[in-house]
Amino acid sequence: MDTQMLIGAKFDKGTETEEPILNPKTGATILSLPEASPAQIEAAVAAAQKAFVTWSRTTPAQRSGYLLKIADRIEAEAREFAALEALNCGKPINAVLNDEIPAIVDCYRFFAGAVRSMPGQVAGEYLPGHTSMVRRDPIGIVASIAPWNYPLMMMAWKLAPAVGGGNTVVFKPSEQTPLTALKLAKILAEVLPEGVVNVVLGRGDSVGNTLINNSKVNMISITGDVATGKKVLQAAAKSVKRTHLELGGKAPVIVFDDADLGAVVNGLRAFGYYNAGQDCTAACRIYAGKKIYDKLVADLSSAVSTIKYNQPDDTENEIGPLISRRQRDRVSSFVERASELQHIEITTGGKPGEGSGFFYQPTVVAGALQEDEIVRREVFGPVVSITRFSEVDEAVNWANDSDYGLASSVWTKDVSRAMATAARLQYGCTWINTHFMLTNEMPHGGLKQSGYGKDMSLYALEDYTAVRHVMVAHG
Ligand code: NAD
Repeated sequence: MDTQMLIGAKFDKGTETEEPILNPKTGATILSLPEASPAQIEAAVAAAQKAFVTWSRTTPAQRSGYLLKIADRIEAEAREFAALEALNCGKPINAVLNDEIPAIVDCYRFFAGAVRSMPGQVAGEYLPGHTSMVRRDPIGIVASIAPWNYPLMMMAWKLAPAVGGGNTVVFKPSEQTPLTALKLAKILAEVLPEGVVNVVLGRGDSVGNTLINNSKVNMISITGDVATGKKVLQAAAKSVKRTHLELGGKAPVIVFDDADLGAVVNGLRAFGYYNAGQDCTAACRIYAGKKIYDKLVADLSSAVSTIKYNQPDDTENEIGPLISRRQRDRVSSFVERASELQHIEITTGGKPGEGSGFFYQPTVVAGALQEDEIVRREVFGPVVSITRFSEVDEAVNWANDSDYGLASSVWTKDVSRAMATAARLQYGCTWINTHFMLTNEMPHGGLKQSGYGKDMSLYALEDYTAVRHVMVAHG
């Protein structure tokens, strides 16, 4: 197992407090890893700064070649990466191997193509006797900070457009899930020139905080909690750094009476509980029309009660545990508080799983009202609430009545109603008759307190590059 950080061309162990890395399926400690010291963080930033001088002047074709090599290496070691991610996050091996790894490899390949074909305004004489052109140039040193729910995928979403855009990076994985980042660091050191990507380890309030406050860092890219995003903004304000914030979500799902009930149930069973609901786009806040509501509650509850987890044969598992005991207890306390309300019925689940792992039963909370905590706050667990609505305006208003604005979906057979409703939703993404599906060509990112800036797609490449105007006088 790779345990060392990457600073320039050097592999090094941290020198500070040791952080235990747990197996969420059992609660056992896999190993402990020491945090980076302030001097090591400074060295990583200095290595990125040094590398920027030459990396920023490589051609798109050269950077594309590097991204393709990274993709090939991950693909060649897909099983090892998947096993490590499954161990550290508790994810079912098949989910990592068949869903995540191909999407991660495709992310590097997409950006390998995208960097060579960025669109833009045409050069021309916008003032007589002067030719103007627009350039897109790298921003500089990017501090990239990732969460624990999809460690290797978030790393891909951050590294591929940043490095592809000509920037250099100091990357910090979540202190809870650093193992695949450390394995990838080995590959990056072999493939990329020294210092283009550096990987440092540690907690947010120590290493993360030092990194985002470093005056040489030009941009901070973070995926995490809203509260963490606000801290990033405060740090960025001190030296006016660019920021790219992918924060939480609480995705509304509007199910009209005419929706295909079977498709809705299958969709919610899959997209509400994938990754044990630890997903910022999880289909967790259902608004069901008054005619379909009872049948949806009954059918969804019975479908959700069959979700397989904590089976000894991992290939049978559909979802894993939560990432930590703390997260499991947090989810548990949300459901307990909800169940104390008279109008609420827990129609399936509602308890922690058995054993020492951090499992929580897939849960349906029926009868929820718009003002309930379970409808308003991000639970980040295998818990879906269902609320009954009467009129389309009520559903749209409730859906938009949220601090979050990342993802949403609309389920109906009436295409006009679907389009009209989608147009009114204040979310970075709206799916129609599906949910959760992402593709590297399309942007992913939020509105409101879900943050701003896009991952994936050409828009990400725009976020990680700066627009510059160059004007030539004809003389
Ligand atoms: P978190 O905010 O606790 O941690 C995210 C990362 O930020 C970690 O690496 C952490 O060490 C670091 N961090 C924490 N405090 C910091 C500080 N003061 N300075 C610098 N870095 C700091 O979030 P988490 O618990 O790891 O992840 C779950 C959250 O991430 C959820 O709210 C979820 O919705 C969100 N998320 C959003 C997206 C998206 O695309 N919008 C994707 C995945 C997860």
